[in-house]
Amino acid sequence: MQEGIMELMWRTSHMSGGNAHYVEDLYEQYLADPGAVPDEWRQYFDSLPGYEGGPSRDTPLAPVRDRFYEISRDQRRAAPAAEGGESDVSRKQVRVLQLINAYRFRGHQRADIDPLGLRVSESVPDLELSFHQLSDADMDTEFQTGSLFIGKDSAPLKEIIQALEQTYCRTVGCEFMHIVNTEEKRWIQQRFESVRSRPDYSPDVRKHVLERLTAAEGLENYLASKYPGTKRFGLEGGETFIPMIDEMIQRSGSYGAREVVIGMAHRGRLNLLVNILGKSPGELIDEFDGKKMLAQGSGDVKYHQGFSSNVMTPGGEVHLALAFNPSHLEIVTPVVEGSVRARQDRREDSEGDQVLPLVVHGDAAMAGQGVVMETFQMSQLRGYKTGGTVHVVINNQVGFTTSRRDDARSTEYCTDIAKMVQAPIFHVNGDDPDAVLHATQVAIDYRQQFKKDVVIDLICYRRRGHNEADEPSGTQPMMYQKIKGHDSSRTLYARRLVEEGVLDEDDARALVDEYRDDLDSGNHVANALVQEPNSNLFVDWTPYLGHSWSGDVDTSFDLKRMQELATKMCEIPDDVDVQRQVSRVYEDRRKMLAGSLPLNWGFAETLAYATLLDQGHPVRLTGQDTGRGTFSHRHAVVHNQKNGDTWTPLCHLRPNQPGFTIHDSFLSEAGALAFEYGYSTTMPNALIAWEAQFGDFVNGAQVVIDQFISSGETKWGRLCGLALLLPHGYEGQGPEHSSARLERFLQLSAENNMQVCVPTTPAQIFHLLRRQVIRPLRKPLVVMSPKSLLRHKDATSSLEDLAMGKFQMVIPDQGKLEAENVKRLILCAGKVYYDLISWREENERYDTAVVRIEQLYPFPEETLFEAISDYSNLERVVWCQEEPKNQGAWYQSQHHMRRVVDQVAAGVGSDLGFAGRPESAAPAAGYMAVHSEQQRSLVEGAFES
Ligand code: AMP
Repeated sequence: MQEGIMELMWRTSHMSGGNAHYVEDLYEQYLADPGAVPDEWRQYFDSLPGYEGGPSRDTPLAPVRDRFYEISRDQRRAAPAAEGGESDVSRKQVRVLQLINAYRFRGHQRADIDPLGLRVSESVPDLELSFHQLSDADMDTEFQTGSLFIGKDSAPLKEIIQALEQTYCRTVGCEFMHIVNTEEKRWIQQRFESVRSRPDYSPDVRKHVLERLTAAEGLENYLASKYPGTKRFGLEGGETFIPMIDEMIQRSGSYGAREVVIGMAHRGRLNLLVNILGKSPGELIDEFDGKKMLAQGSGDVKYHQGFSSNVMTPGGEVHLALAFNPSHLEIVTPVVEGSVRARQDRREDSEGDQVLPLVVHGDAAMAGQGVVMETFQMSQLRGYKTGGTVHVVINNQVGFTTSRRDDARSTEYCTDIAKMVQAPIFHVNGDDPDAVLHATQVAIDYRQQFKKDVVIDLICYRRRGHNEADEPSGTQPMMYQKIKGHDSSRTLYARRLVEEGVLDEDDARALVDEYRDDLDSGNHVANALVQEPNSNLFVDWTPYLGHSWSGDVDTSFDLKRMQELATKMCEIPDDVDVQRQVSRVYEDRRKMLAGSLPLNWGFAETLAYATLLDQGHPVRLTGQDTGRGTFSHRHAVVHNQKNGDTWTPLCHLRPNQPGFTIHDSFLSEAGALAFEYGYSTTMPNALIAWEAQFGDFVNGAQVVIDQFISSGETKWGRLCGLALLLPHGYEGQGPEHSSARLERFLQLSAENNMQVCVPTTPAQIFHLLRRQVIRPLRKPLVVMSPKSLLRHKDATSSLEDLAMGKFQMVIPDQGKLEAENVKRLILCAGKVYYDLISWREENERYDTAVVRIEQLYPFPEETLFEAISDYSNLERVVWCQEEPKNQGAWYQSQHHMRRVVDQVAAGVGSDLGFAGRPESAAPAAGYMAVHSEQQRSLVEGAFES
């Protein structure tokens, strides 16, 4: 008998391989209650040879499961295919259980989830009776219901099938059987099966849903009649989105959430702003009329705007923040995650109970843009997780003019990427608001329970074109013929409620009129809006507002206290077995502290963090291999060679110090950097730095740099103090590992939007990092950080340089030159300085001054003038760079240098010379010999040209 069941199980479709979880489920049920599983299975499980005394309720599941598989595998190998004495009923019982499982796996493929009915449903053999060797003749036979949640242990087959059809093949398509965790699967089954995916909501609940639907439709109708043809990316066709988001916020609030951060693209954004976040309709109208002007900056179109407000929920006041969003749609997803994580860190909410990330996707972008995958990938990582994100897709089944079929994606659903993290996915028909409400509640509850991502795919349509100036029938003729004859979600729902006696037609009509009246009178239409918001729910940015640019900042630090901190930083507990090279790094740091070795980059940089922490500023440092540092200079995290545990000295400076967070990031640039942008635009008091493995890796995050870091303040007034550490320098490592593309950052620099710096000494990085936080100004900082300088014998500083100095935007010549003898001036930035100095020493060219410009933007014209003003006999000035002529700072910064030098020696600046690599399509040469020759020639050229 037992062999028969196993044989049957292993040779049928979804019971083998990955689908064998079904057996695990049964086995777990058996462990909890042997009576809960069908007789055949109980007998089988009873007969299993004991594992440490045999299976019992107290037996840990995992080893028993392993043992079970071991045995069943052996049996499979050994057993003949015969089913011998198995009775017909028991065989059919197993098949019925398989059928139940098949619905859970594949019911969604037959579900009625497309309001337009355009979805071509493939046949699903697993859902046919014949596939399971059952037939109509079995319909009245009573079978055990197994784990099916229908409130009874056994039922006629037809009743079982009806329950399955209603649960899995009506207007919700559930995908969750890809989840490995049995508890989660069972939880989801219970939630959907027990109410057949559509609970009986009370009349009040349904009236509220209708009211919100009316608001969603009412706003679009209002704007359409007032501003026909004006772009607004209306929600028409997807109006159920509004009652859905309303429910999400209310339910999260009832669970104790204090903040909800929302990211979304254009479609429906204005509707969300007005109907959920409570933006005043009058303000929106002003924007449509083109009346609203920003006090400063470029501003942005209305469907990119963010917004903040507070709403009331059953659990108290909740702060809502809608993130500003560029047209590069999905890139806001990791920005939201970063912002949420910052809020959770601020609240010490390590479980993610108090802040909910809610991300709204479009179907085409979700399937198309890789940053979605990056964001799912970060969802459970310790440096990035936010306790689960609720993802909503406004799935209008078309991307601008690109049809889903054949062009937009290869996957069945636009949400398939979410399966990579085993997120449950609920596809819901937007024309069934009751089912949408239920899926929404399950999604919020799932996130609350399991702290993992969950997806709602709201399948709807787009009544108009991509925007209101667009005619869609030219490219989607069949879809738009359907849409023309299709009543709106609100019309359909109102009709249903009237038919079911929930309200009468006059009541339904009154809702429309009331909403319209509110809009006309300019009233707020988000009914939960709090008029006098509790400002404790969000960060106070006022200390950081209104500061004009200043680069000259006192960043000194008490020497004695720094020595104490440095001592602490060098302490590693005895039981941490430190690897030999790492041990040497710490030994050297102790010598630097004692003054017997000059201070190097790694020590100065980590001391910057230590001093900031000591002054009350949290520090968060993430990036590719950041704990150690790509070039082994940091070793901020020490790995115990005995047990793999880690020790991070910067976390142990003093009791109650602010948090020091350091994480090796996953190998992403776009997602990882966007996350840190979100984090730093939400956490003004901290130093937030992101490090690229090599500077050129930042290419992969160009969208974040263009759309957020360089322009976020001018477009949206959002300040950001993020620091980017980008290893840069020409050391013969080829085209991909030499340049952090300095020229691109300089090209994006305007209106003091960010700082681009090339520090060349340990003291300089120390003061630069400190300046970033000590000064209340918040501007992104791009650091071209060094590689070989991390160990260069001349690139050293003293503890006093750190304690007493400040960041020098320009470093004057350090030689003992007589100013009146200086005929030639070489201006440079970065590591080439050391090559130039060494050439000058070798060739005794004491008529040439070498001045470093350590901050290329904002260009420090005054400071440069002060550094060179004594060179009154200057005849020649040269800019020397390692980069090819079309790259580096040459084209972006020369006008500043010309202007300043001309003030010192008229005409000399205008004749500024160039010493560098010739123009090149690639950033650097791939051959060491070519690199060395170029380097020699450019250094020599700086003195001789
Ligand atoms: P939020 O918590 O994002 O809704 O922000 C609350 C308020 O803080 C906003 O309305 C802004 O006034 C201000 N604020 C938030 N982030 C920033 C930022 N990065 N720069 C300037 N002000 C901000």
